[in-house]
Amino acid sequence: MRSTGRSHGPRRFLALLALPLALAVSAPGFANPTTDRTVAPDRASTGNQDGVGLMRIVVADRSGIDRLTDLGVDLAEYVKPVDDGIEVHAVLSSEESQALRDKGFDVRDAISDQSDHARNMAERSAAIRAATAATAGADTLTVLRAEWFTSLDNQLFLNIEVKSSAGTDATTVLTASWDSGPGTQVGSGGTATMSRFTDAGQYLYHRFSNPVPITAKPARATITSSQGGSATVDVTTWLGSPRKNPGKHPYVSDFVDHYLDPTEVTARFTGLAAEFPTLTELIDLPYKTNGYRRKAQAQFGTAAASTLYVTSTAYGHQGGNDLTMALVDPGAANAPLTVSVAGKAVTVSLATDGAGATSSTAAQVVAAVNGNTDAAALLTASTYRGNAGAGVLAAAPATSLTDNLKAPASVSREPFQMKVLRIGKHRDGSKVGVFLYCQEHAREWVTPLVCVESAERLLRNYAKDPDTRKIVDGLDIFILPVVNPDGAHYSMYDFNMQRRNMTNHCPATNADPGRRNSWGVDVNRNFSVGSVFDGYVGASATNCVSDTYAGPAELSEPEARNEVWLVDHFPNIKLSMNTHSYGGYFMWPPGAYKAEGREVLPRVDQGTEAYFWTSSDYILSRVQEYRGTAIWPGRTGPVTDVLYSAAGNSADEHWYNRGIIGWDFEVGADIYDPATGRFSAVGFQPPFAEGHEEAMEFANGNIAILEVARAYATDKSQPRTSLEVVGREPGATAFTFRTSEPANVYYTLDGSRPTYDSPKLALAGMREGVQNITVTSDTTVNWFSIDIAGNVEGNYKPEGQGKNYHQQRVSVQ
Ligand SMILES: [Zn+2]
Repeated sequence: MRSTGRSHGPRRFLALLALPLALAVSAPGFANPTTDRTVAPDRASTGNQDGVGLMRIVVADRSGIDRLTDLGVDLAEYVKPVDDGIEVHAVLSSEESQALRDKGFDVRDAISDQSDHARNMAERSAAIRAATAATAGADTLTVLRAEWFTSLDNQLFLNIEVKSSAGTDATTVLTASWDSGPGTQVGSGGTATMSRFTDAGQYLYHRFSNPVPITAKPARATITSSQGGSATVDVTTWLGSPRKNPGKHPYVSDFVDHYLDPTEVTARFTGLAAEFPTLTELIDLPYKTNGYRRKAQAQFGTAAASTLYVTSTAYGHQGGNDLTMALVDPGAANAPLTVSVAGKAVTVSLATDGAGATSSTAAQVVAAVNGNTDAAALLTASTYRGNAGAGVLAAAPATSLTDNLKAPASVSREPFQMKVLRIGKHRDGSKVGVFLYCQEHAREWVTPLVCVESAERLLRNYAKDPDTRKIVDGLDIFILPVVNPDGAHYSMYDFNMQRRNMTNHCPATNADPGRRNSWGVDVNRNFSVGSVFDGYVGASATNCVSDTYAGPAELSEPEARNEVWLVDHFPNIKLSMNTHSYGGYFMWPPGAYKAEGREVLPRVDQGTEAYFWTSSDYILSRVQEYRGTAIWPGRTGPVTDVLYSAAGNSADEHWYNRGIIGWDFEVGADIYDPATGRFSAVGFQPPFAEGHEEAMEFANGNIAILEVARAYATDKSQPRTSLEVVGREPGATAFTFRTSEPANVYYTLDGSRPTYDSPKLALAGMREGVQNITVTSDTTVNWFSIDIAGNVEGNYKPEGQGKNYHQQRVSVQ
């Protein structure tokens, strides 16, 4: 905790939870209708983007993140352990920042503000991740990971993760010491205290907040605990496994020179399909988006009780923008309230009292306008954010309604046709399919570039590069560069921090013009597995202005339904990559948990987890090849272990409903400054020079994923296993299995034939190695193994009658 004396106690939060943040900030009169304050400036009620920044917030633990989510706070996909808690980043207006500070949250400085958007737009124009040891009588330390790696500018870093059997005791302090190479003394390389990592009230393990910069490659590390435990392990290498023959063939790359909007991206893909007809086809996804369009609106009044707003029936570009409305003082005493319509002009003549002063209240005008058949055909009037509207409305000149949309006319206002570029020599469903998709979140501008660059490299290197030809000939690749085109247009031209789509599901109490940057559905929370509707954490089902609003129902949005359609329509799809930004992560399911007891969606089995780690090494080494960026071991793993709970995300949808490997990238790894020894976050929209580098290195990652997929598709080699006794004491023997490659092992201890219904070798725990199995009498162990591609050891048929499984006798002293 920070020493501000502020309390994050439970009582304070209970009060907060009852009121969505956005309402708490700027809904005068809503909680108490008799209060009548000035209508609050909102995120962007003036149509300008100023006042909204990407702010640093430090919370005590992950429950703080869940609370921020419940409040509708717009969080970036970034969590970082710091000395006094967890740092997260949120998009906040100055009013929202102050409201959070008032509630006791530790809101700190800005990572970026709107000047960055101005700079980016200017640029755009110009360039159109062991063995364990324990000491008796003390706590047992299980070393999960201990590895060194190289990142930018050949700086060496050390990452260690250790689980203490006394870790639930908050006073347990672990200290790591390491040597400076083989034969040197442990401690000669350095010493550091580790942080205790807890989440949702549960101890997970100890780790370093950041990878520790080191000067020599360590060979051994010793971790000691304040509870007396100690463990010494070998330090292994993370990443950096070079390819056998990189650069052997001419390879072209670098096909993006500015941030691209969805119209440009779609044109690019249409062009590629035309240029490479034998290798590609363009698939029109069946559900059109709602469109980059809005109803036109105007607002009258300055205080909540005497304010109303009108919303056109037609979208702005379909006539809504042509409407005007005037509130006229008739200039005579005792005049009645009347409404008249002439063409596209609505005139409200306000009632007056005996002295000739206007006397119509906001509520009365709302009723009169909505009660006039001609006016009601054109527009609908509403009081301000649920206010009773008892205040007298001031006269106002004829005011044009506007949809406020600022994109050039080249950006269509009609429902958007999402297109997938299918790349492959044999596009008949016979090849393993891979689904690469980008920009579910509008403001993540680098992500579509990753998809575009990946497609260009595949097609333009096909003729000359044999490695590319193997991929394109051997796989069926589906690339969807922009999952959220409407939101992405809005992010580029109207409100750069837009995350969601543009569809407004808000009732009139939250639909005034000042709310227009707070509408939409978080596409990556709208899926049907582990959703907020199922009771999982990390999305809002009720707060339509929350930035993780899940929508009115699972799969309510066309953008989400299109993804589901694709993977249902092409059942050969076995792997997927969902590219987001920022922070530099490589993740897989599970991606959500329930708050109660931190109940995580079912974890992948031991063989699959091992496959994921092996793949990570390959894929992340390729990312590193480009400019040295090492994705940290601490940012590699299941979403719930390294980031947070994201209820209803698409990777979980693909994995749990269809068995499709659902990976996630967060491009944009923190940049290390050797001068200061600090890491800094890059944000959603870095200067294009940085965005370009991120696109290039993660396109490397996408190509590596395709190579991993091809290895999967062509894997005909069977796993090999052996039984290894790992511990023997009087009356008990412990054993485990070793496998030649990532594989699941099914075994029996009762002499029966092993089948898929038999017990399966499991992991000892989260981020741990395989379990040890203990027997207390002489036991015959029967087993077989199967790899991720379905190859069974020794060609054994678990569902048949054969006896060609392994058998070994384990004796007990
Ligand atoms: Zn995202």
